[in-house]
Amino acid sequence: MKRALITGITGQDGSFLTEFLLARGYLVFGFARRESWYRPNCASHLADHIRIVLGDMGEGVDIANAIRESEPDEIYNLASQSRPGESWTRAPETLLVNGLGAIRLFESVRQTRPGCRVYHASSSEMFGRATSAPQNESTPFNPINPYAAAKVYAHQMARIYRESYGLYIACGVLFNHESERRPLHFLTQKVAYGAACAALGVQRSSDLNEMGRPIVDHGKLSLGNMDVARDWGYAGDFVEAMWRMLQQAVPSDYVIGTGQMRTLRQLCEVAYGSVGHNWQDCVVTDAALVRPLEPGAIVADASRARRELGWEPSVAFETMVQRMVQAQMARLRGESPSRAGSLPA
Ligand code: NAP
Repeated sequence: MKRALITGITGQDGSFLTEFLLARGYLVFGFARRESWYRPNCASHLADHIRIVLGDMGEGVDIANAIRESEPDEIYNLASQSRPGESWTRAPETLLVNGLGAIRLFESVRQTRPGCRVYHASSSEMFGRATSAPQNESTPFNPINPYAAAKVYAHQMARIYRESYGLYIACGVLFNHESERRPLHFLTQKVAYGAACAALGVQRSSDLNEMGRPIVDHGKLSLGNMDVARDWGYAGDFVEAMWRMLQQAVPSDYVIGTGQMRTLRQLCEVAYGSVGHNWQDCVVTDAALVRPLEPGAIVADASRARRELGWEPSVAFETMVQRMVQAQMARLRGESPSRAGSLPA
């Protein structure tokens, strides 16, 4: 039985990846912070099927201990301070977890488990103000926030460890991927929530936005620049690409995305349209929510992954958005998230 260690198991990708690996017969170990594991998280429903090693990516000794305890064949390093916007106010923590944490993990692998294969979560945010579009494995990085800068650092160190020590480390340069498990402060989930409120007639939401105000107030959702555009895919599809990367004979880095860019305006159209509402009646723009620096045209050229990994996204943008809206409606009605079918038999 193959053994996998997943850091960031309590997050969106960690939970989807765990389901994917359990279905393939893996013994899965999750690395999680004590305070996160003992409250509801994305992987709570998997608790009886996995083993948890408690620890913090900010502590080298915890990382080394997790590798020693789990004796993994594969490690998926997903843990990160994952909010680019917040990385400005949490820059030291972002560098500690996303940068140094990754390097400590590579070093522990080198010292104690050199035959283990490592997937490291890089990000399309590294392209920042990209010099060309679409972006592939050869596009230069041009990060524009502390999150992206820390990701570039870890990405380069992954390559350096691979080339210097012959370790098996593959980096996935993943474009945005969403799901019904995304936390509420992420843009797509906020829109899904807004559409769910519109469908249920909620005028003032109990959930607050980053300014501490109701996400929906007087029946309106406040958003920033409606022209921002992203390449949004479905998280459940993307975790399969992570696994496929580690099944290759030779480790390498891959760009993963749908190759289709959509604006926030289009996202609103689909989300509100799915519950029979016109987004223009329900959304207002707020200059305070406009980011000072927005990335350029960020869209994936994932042709190498298609060719070498045989990877294709399977969930359409519209389907994903509808699922997210439906999940938010269920949540607002007080129903617990439906994860039936995601558990191993
Ligand atoms: P997520 O839902 O925010 O999950 C992040 C995970 O990292 C959580 O389990 C979190 O645990 C953990 N973590 C944060 N700080 C930690 C620390 N100090 N010690 C231990 N664990 C810590 O993010 P995601 O969407 O699943 O993304 C997974 C990875 O892919 C991240 O590295 C992210 O940067 C990268 N990525 C994501 C996207 C995307 O669109 N989703 C795109 C490109 C790259 P807590 O529960 O304790 O906070």
